[in-house]
Amino acid sequence: MTEATPGFSLELSSDVREMRDWVHEFAASVIRPAAAEWDEREETPWPILEEAAKIGLYSLDFYAAQFFEESGLGFPVALEELFWGDAGIGLSLVGSTLAAVAVVANGTPEQVGEWCPQMFGSPGEVKLGAFCSSEPDAGSDVGAIKTRAVYDQAKGEWVINGVKTWATNGGIANVHVVVASVDPVLGSRGQASFIVPPGTPGLAMGQKFRKHGIRASHTAEVVLDNVRVPGHCLVGDRERLEARLARVREGKSGGGQAAMKTFEASRPSVAAMAVGVGRAAVEYAAQYARTRVQFGRPIGQNQGVAFQLADMTAAVDAARLLTWRAAWMARKGVTFERAEGSMSKLFAAETAVRVTEQAIQILGGNGYTREYPVERWHRDAKIFTIFEGTSEIQRMIVGRAVTGLDVR
Ligand SMILES: Cc1cc2nc3c(=O)[nH]c(=O)nc-3n(C[C@H](O)[C@H](O)[C@H](O)COP(=O)(O)OP(=O)(O)OC[C@H]3O[C@@H](n4cnc5c(N)ncnc54)[C@H](O)[C@@H]3O)c2cc1C
Repeated sequence: MTEATPGFSLELSSDVREMRDWVHEFAASVIRPAAAEWDEREETPWPILEEAAKIGLYSLDFYAAQFFEESGLGFPVALEELFWGDAGIGLSLVGSTLAAVAVVANGTPEQVGEWCPQMFGSPGEVKLGAFCSSEPDAGSDVGAIKTRAVYDQAKGEWVINGVKTWATNGGIANVHVVVASVDPVLGSRGQASFIVPPGTPGLAMGQKFRKHGIRASHTAEVVLDNVRVPGHCLVGDRERLEARLARVREGKSGGGQAAMKTFEASRPSVAAMAVGVGRAAVEYAAQYARTRVQFGRPIGQNQGVAFQLADMTAAVDAARLLTWRAAWMARKGVTFERAEGSMSKLFAAETAVRVTEQAIQILGGNGYTREYPVERWHRDAKIFTIFEGTSEIQRMIVGRAVTGLDVR
């Protein structure tokens, strides 16, 4: 560990262990058996969201309790179990939290209280939230966002126009959180986030994407055509925004970009999701290697296979350690001096892709078919190297932290 991690402990509290076992039980008995079906259907698994809501797992209360859990490990532990069950269904169950985190990170307590519950709904009437930052010409380059928010002084409303893409739950969410430019001259420092309340005219779903993996998670374009939201839907408040913009215009620091703050906080969470998928693949491949017999002995008795399993196991454990460290630091307010959040996301994502590919190899022909889950896990794992900052962007951030240079 580093000097910045005194007090870091791997010992989970009894509450976290209990929660882990409870989530694992849901993942094993409800999520995993349904995974192949929803992957084929390529739809949001509403009945599973309902089942999770009934037991309190799909709820703002549950996620908030884990997000604010004292050690910082509650949230990554829950995510690992859910994504061990299935990444597509897992993302449907936690996609709303990205929008919630955007409001929690930059919003007022009133905004958190008003909008976050509406991103989850209640048993019998579950709802979703969507966080919309990416645009066709602004993916990795968040500063290139063209969606514009203009304040209509006479009506006290913000008017938002633009096209968002790749939005998880986009267009089917109850509440959308949209990143827009309020002062294009200032680039990324002139951006703010806006809450678009349920049923607001002008917001519509564009194309729904058919994907390589995580197919049970809905991903779509969101078109904003003269969307009018009340002044209080600016995440944070107007005075704070104006003060920040004034500081930037004077050449002083204006704090982080709205979208980047959300991403920074969520990177260890994405890493935990990748750890869940990687762990699933390692467990499955090890079990297969114990029972599949060729040349008169289990294939796992060959060093070629056992050594691969050893490397896979070590890599997943290493990914978890980086993830827990970053989550702990984020919770304790320890600054990511060495881009520890990005480090965890980079390593866990690359590990998930590699070990799921190795798992296919260990299962041979079976691994390549849809009769076995490892081909799905491999398709699912790839997303972790792309969303919430690609692996290249994570390397850029870590590279900058390590060298102190403006790496491009
Ligand atoms: C399934 C899915 C769900 C998503 N959910 C959301 C969501 O809920 N909300 C949201 O706002 N966005 C979401 N995204 C968008 C996601 O965050 C972007 O896809 C991601 O940031 C990459 O942007 P891009 O696709 O435009 O790729 P690009 O930015 O065009 O990158 C293309 C390639 O170029 C590389 N590259 C770009 N710049 C550099 C550089 N400076 N140095 C080195 N390499 C570079 C990238 O690493 C990548 O390999 C989602 C995407 C997917 C696929």
